[in-house]
Amino acid sequence: MEKGTIQVKTENIFPIIKKFLYSDHEIFLRELISNAVDATQKLKTLVSLGKYKEELGDTTIVVEMDQKARTITVKDRGIGMTADEVDRYINQIAFSSAEEFLKKFKGKSEDEARSLIGHFGLGFYSTFMVSDKVEILTKTYKKGAGSRAVRWECDGSPEYTIDFTDKEDRGTIVTLHIAKDSDEFLNEYRILDLLKKYCKFLPVPIIFGTEKTYEPVEGEKDEHGHEKTKEVEKPRIINNTNPAWRRKPSELKEEDYRVFYRELYPATFDEPLFNIHLNVDYPFNLTGILYFPKITNYLDVRKDKIQLYCNQVYVTDSVEGIVPDFLALLHGVIDSPDIPLNVSRSYLQSDASVKKISSHITKKVSDRLEEIFKNNREDFEKKWEDIKLFIEYGMISDEKFYERARTFTLLKNTEGRYFTLDDYAAHIKDTQTDKDKKLIYLYASNVSEQHGYIGNAKERGFDVLVMDGPLDPHFINALEMKLENSHFTRVDADVIDKLIKKEEEMPSKLSDNEKETLKTIFEKTLDKDKFMVILESLSEKDPPVSITQPEFMRRMKDMSKLGGGMPFMKDMPEHYNFVINTNHPVITKLMNTNENEEKDRMTKQLKDLALLSQQMLTGEDLTNFVKRSVEILL
Ligand code: ADP
Repeated sequence: MEKGTIQVKTENIFPIIKKFLYSDHEIFLRELISNAVDATQKLKTLVSLGKYKEELGDTTIVVEMDQKARTITVKDRGIGMTADEVDRYINQIAFSSAEEFLKKFKGKSEDEARSLIGHFGLGFYSTFMVSDKVEILTKTYKKGAGSRAVRWECDGSPEYTIDFTDKEDRGTIVTLHIAKDSDEFLNEYRILDLLKKYCKFLPVPIIFGTEKTYEPVEGEKDEHGHEKTKEVEKPRIINNTNPAWRRKPSELKEEDYRVFYRELYPATFDEPLFNIHLNVDYPFNLTGILYFPKITNYLDVRKDKIQLYCNQVYVTDSVEGIVPDFLALLHGVIDSPDIPLNVSRSYLQSDASVKKISSHITKKVSDRLEEIFKNNREDFEKKWEDIKLFIEYGMISDEKFYERARTFTLLKNTEGRYFTLDDYAAHIKDTQTDKDKKLIYLYASNVSEQHGYIGNAKERGFDVLVMDGPLDPHFINALEMKLENSHFTRVDADVIDKLIKKEEEMPSKLSDNEKETLKTIFEKTLDKDKFMVILESLSEKDPPVSITQPEFMRRMKDMSKLGGGMPFMKDMPEHYNFVINTNHPVITKLMNTNENEEKDRMTKQLKDLALLSQQMLTGEDLTNFVKRSVEILL
C-alpha cells in the first residue's frame, strides 16, 4: 500500500467546500454519474474507432444505496483507470480544479458563489460534501503491464491511500461512506428524486433499485378472455437514453412531441399548443424542443420551466441570459455544450456566443410561428389568444422580434374576426381616418362594460378592436410608436363625434350665456373632484349626456398599474369628463323649463342616466334613481 498527501496549500479544503456548497450538496450525484457516463462513452468511442476489440457487453450504470452500511455506490463498465491515471486525474487534476474553484469563490458572497456552483464542474471532489470517506475501485480497459486494478481511498483530509487489488471486470466502482450530517441521502426516495432530476435523459442506461411491473403470461387467459398478467420485479431504469430532442425532426410525429412533453413535465396535464424543434450544428451546437404552453393560469406560468442540458446532463432550469426574456415562459429543453456554464450570469449575457444562441432561438421561434400562420391560419387564429401574451411581450421588448412578428401578429375585433396589422389598417382606412389624415384605431378593453360605446361606434360604421390582454396597454404604446400616423383610442375616451375628428364642429343651438347656465346646473349635482363638465355641440342623435375618460389619463394610470409610467399616477383619483350634448332635444327642453323643481328633477335624471351607462350608479343614488323613474311614469 502506498500513502500520499495531496499537494495543497490550504490545509484541509473539504470543510471549506462543504461550507460553500451547503445548499447544493445534492449535485454530488450528478457529478459522479456524469463521470461514469463519460467513462462509458469514451469506451464506446474506442470501440467505434476499432481501438477496443473486446466485447462491450452491458454498460448499464448501477446506483446502489445501502442504509445499514451507510453507503452509496456508483458502478460503471467504462474505461476505468490505471494506477497512474488515478494519481494524475484524481490526486492531481481533479484536486487542483477543486482548489481553483475555492480560489475563485473565496471572498465572494455566498449567494454569488452558490448561483455559480450548480454549473461549476467541481466534479469528483463534490462527493466530500456528503461523505466521511470515499473509495474508488477501478480497473482499466487496457491490457498488459500497469493495468492492475487499483483501490484509492481518502477520508477528506489531504491524505489518501492507493493500493493494487483484484477486480474482475473493467470499469469503476465509487463508494461513498455517507457522513452523519448527510443522512438525507440515505433515503431511497431522495436518491430516486435526484436521479430523476439530473439523469432523466443521460445517454447510458442507469438503474437504481427495482420496481414492480406487470407482464403478460404467454398463452394464459383469464375468465374474460384477456391475457393473464403476473407481477414481476425488475431493475428500475431511471433514464430515457434517446430523448426526443436528440432525434431527427423528420423521425418524429406530433404524438412523439406530446409524449415527450409529458415525460418532461409529468405533473402537468395541459397539452402544449405547438412545438419548435431546435437543431443547429453550425456555428454552434444546439439541440432542443421548445413548447408553447397553454396558459390556464397566469400565476402558474412559471411552474414548468425550460430545462438546460449539456450533452443530456441536466444543468439548470434557470435560463436567463440564454433564452430571451419573453421566451423564458416557454417550456421544453435546450441542450448545448457551447454555453459556458462556469461563468456568472452577467458574463453570460455579454458573451458573444450566448448572444448568438439567444438570437438564433428567437429567430427559430418566429420562423415557426410564421410557418404555422402561413400553412394553417385557421389553427393559428384558434391558438392566438393563448400565444398572444408571448408575441406581444416579444414585440414590446425585442426590436428584431417585432420586425419578424409583424407579419403574423393578429388583431381581433369585437365581432371575433382576426386581422394582420396591414389588413386591419386597410380595413379601417376609409372610415377611420380623421381630418388630420391620422388613422384612428378604436379599441375596447372590456367588451361588456363598454358595450354602449361599442354599439355607438359600430352604428357609425366604425370597427372596434378587443384589447383586453394583460400586456395590451404596453402593446398599444409599442404599436403607436411603430405604426406611422396612427393613434389608438379607447372607445369610451370621448363622445362618438370626437373619437375620430372628421370635419369642423357643428354649430351649437345654445348661446354662450345659456351654456354657462347649463354648465352650472350640472356642476351642482356632480362631485367636482371626479367630474369635469364639458359642453359639446353634437348631433341630435347622440346621447344628451355621457361620461368619458380621456385616453391619455386612463392610459397613464393603466401603465403605472403595470409597473411602467410614472408611479404617482396610480394613486391619482379617477377623473372623468361629463359631456353634455347642447344640441339634443332633451337639453333644449331642460333649458326651456322654467319650473325649478322640474328642472332639478330632469338634471338629476340625466346625470344618473349617464352614470348608469358607465356602471357608476350605486347605493343611495341608484335607489333614488329608481324611485324618481317610477314617479316620472305616473
Ligand atoms: P471532470 O469530470 O470534470 O474531468 P472530475 O473531478 O469529476 O472532473 O474527474 C476527474 C477525472 O477523473 C476525470 O476527467 C476522469 O479522467 C477521471 N474519472 C473520474 N471518474 C471516473 C470514472 N468513473 N471512470 C473513469 N475515469 C474517471
